[in-house]
Amino acid sequence: MKQYDIAVIGGGASGLAAALAAAERARQAGKQLKIAVLEKNPRVGKKLLITGNGRCNITNLAACDLAHYHGDVKQAGAVLKRCTPKKVIAFFRAHGLLCRELEDGRIYPYSLQASSVLNIIRCSLDSACVEQVCNFPVKRIENIPGGFAAVSENGNVKARRIIDAAGGKACPQSGSNGDSFELLRPFRHTVTELYPALVQIRTDAKRVRPLKGVRCMADASILKDKKTLRRIKGEVQFTERAVSGICIFELSRFIRKSGGKTVEISLDLAPEYSAAALEKFFRLQAARFGELPADRLTEGLLNKSLGMEVTKYALNGAPVPSGSLTESDIHSMACAVKDFRFPVQGTMPWQNAQVTAGGVPLKETDDSLQSKCCKGIYLCGELLNVDGDCGGFNLQWAWASGITAGIAAADSLLDEWRAIGK
Ligand SMILES: Cc1cc2nc3c(=O)[nH]c(=O)nc-3n(C[C@H](O)[C@H](O)[C@H](O)COP(=O)(O)OP(=O)(O)OC[C@H]3O[C@@H](n4cnc5c(N)ncnc54)[C@H](O)[C@@H]3O)c2cc1C
Repeated sequence: MKQYDIAVIGGGASGLAAALAAAERARQAGKQLKIAVLEKNPRVGKKLLITGNGRCNITNLAACDLAHYHGDVKQAGAVLKRCTPKKVIAFFRAHGLLCRELEDGRIYPYSLQASSVLNIIRCSLDSACVEQVCNFPVKRIENIPGGFAAVSENGNVKARRIIDAAGGKACPQSGSNGDSFELLRPFRHTVTELYPALVQIRTDAKRVRPLKGVRCMADASILKDKKTLRRIKGEVQFTERAVSGICIFELSRFIRKSGGKTVEISLDLAPEYSAAALEKFFRLQAARFGELPADRLTEGLLNKSLGMEVTKYALNGAPVPSGSLTESDIHSMACAVKDFRFPVQGTMPWQNAQVTAGGVPLKETDDSLQSKCCKGIYLCGELLNVDGDCGGFNLQWAWASGITAGIAAADSLLDEWRAIGK
């Protein structure tokens, strides 16, 4: 059985950061720890490569504002305040990766390529002699004398400390399918309700299919029994079955429990204009283009396919000539632009989700993210009950919690060595 000081289960953002931080901590103390990252995929970092549309939104300068986080925010705040976005940027700079800020405090690698982030991390792991043990799906963690065994069908690994960084359930095609929770259950860790977050919202396919591929700017709201729960501005996209876009991702968490209530999305497609201003606009257009069908009246205001669907929605059916529109029809068209509604049928599944909401409660770990259920096991990343908004907040949590767990695991071993004068 191969033996390590620290075995990190999961070669995603949090696990890689944990391994690197632990190696660095030992180096600063003039020691070398034997560290392995155990990854089920043939290579580490599969998810990292698809983050930020292949550009990797590493962090966000606003990540100290805990309003961007959900779940066990209070406990997570201590970790996020210790390991700030500036510290994460400095961590990467120290390993040779330069970053740049784009809009809204979002930080990306200077190259704007996610592969740069992964390549720099992998090279740094090699320089620090951290082993990447791939094709190693850990099935079980066992308590054995002097530490733990990470058991896999491809062999076992012994380690004095374990860092569980095996992720949540979002995007299982990248490797994170909820294994992490199963690994921790024998140690009596609990898991809160899990649900996909930052995900497209499913709606009536018949309504949305004609709009597939359309993108538009809107103020999007989520309504429960006609009461607005949250309104967010942004780009909305339509797919075969769902409404998508960053603002829709942010709204997706509000539909988790409908409690028997009717849930709808409302899009204000022209937030800068009042309904009265739009009525005036449509009246003028009808006077100008009276012989054209009514759905042409939205040209000059909306994307063409979108305008046709808005008109159909407003007039309940086939377009009539613009010249024959009544005042009530004009009013309906203005209202439809301001409140274009879709019934909500749920979210798209885990495969489409960017992040897991829910996880292991942080109260089951101490400040250093060591398990309170089993000393010597550390937890980090998406498996914990913390998730963030879109914009770099989730990776910030992965880096910050990974670095915290890695340093703590290394410190505990270095303290043991010091105690025995090693
Ligand atoms: C498409 C997409 C785009 C995203 N873009 C961004 C972005 O730009 N900015 C941002 O902040 N966040 C983004 N996120 C979210 C962010 O990527 C995650 O929150 C973050 O990567 C979580 O890191 P993690 O290390 O906790 O888990 P993961 O990255 O999921 O890593 C877990 C690793 O553990 C491995 N593993 C699982 N089970 C086992 C096992 N039994 N044995 C061994 N290995 C195992 C998995 O294969 C995986 O490599 C995005 C997510 C997706 C899906």
